Amino acid sequence: MSLIIKSLGKLKDTLTGRSRDHVIQFENTHAVIHRDVESPLKNLKQKAREAGFDLAIASSFRDYNSQLNIWNLKSLGKRPVLDSAGNPLSVPSMKPEELVFAILRWSALPGCSRHHWGTEIDVFDRNSLPKDYQVQLIPKEAAPGGIFARFNDWLDTNISGEGFFRPYSKDKGGVSPEWWHLSYAPVSQRYFEQFDLSLCQNVIKDSAIELKDTVLQCLPDIYSRFISNISLPDTRSV
Ligand SMILES: [Zn+2]
Repeated sequence: MSLIIKSLGKLKDTLTGRSRDHVIQFENTHAVIHRDVESPLKNLKQKAREAGFDLAIASSFRDYNSQLNIWNLKSLGKRPVLDSAGNPLSVPSMKPEELVFAILRWSALPGCSRHHWGTEIDVFDRNSLPKDYQVQLIPKEAAPGGIFARFNDWLDTNISGEGFFRPYSKDKGGVSPEWWHLSYAPVSQRYFEQFDLSLCQNVIKDSAIELKDTVLQCLPDIYSRFISNISLPDTRSV
């Protein structure tokens, strides 16, 4: 019995970014990923290389504290908060609820980010970079004529073969579409099924998060719009 409680507690820590037991460093890079993602990611990189791309990772595992830091800096107006088109908003003139939903378009609540799982990576193609270009990870980079348009097309047809999918492929009224965000379905779908509103509530209640009262008030709405309504993987990837 106590073993079950212990392993449940451990799973909750994994799901909410309070544990690093499930992650490893990927191939001497700065990327940190779930240990089960290492081999499929190597395969995906190899396939990309054969097609002329250098699949690079801009962001991978992020723990609870880093996500809390991002959230709090945005809430305090110390880091830009962007509208859906990617333009900066004026934080001081926004009502708390407005600000919460604006931040959520691009950043997850601490404890509720899929990046805590180690199964999520934000990718780009290093071979397509113009000289001195700063990667932004914005929609227009992958739109027709954009620097990652060809890479994006390649991702469309190749990620599912290695078990990856895009949870934010479409605008479903929650998180903005993120062509660069890949998820390893065999593990992330398991985690997704374990994640629920009460886990979210417990994390936020304990959190030193800015805008806490507003977040707690809106949490059921946040959960259904930004956490549970992802684009699901097709059956080939799971
Ligand atoms: Zn991401």
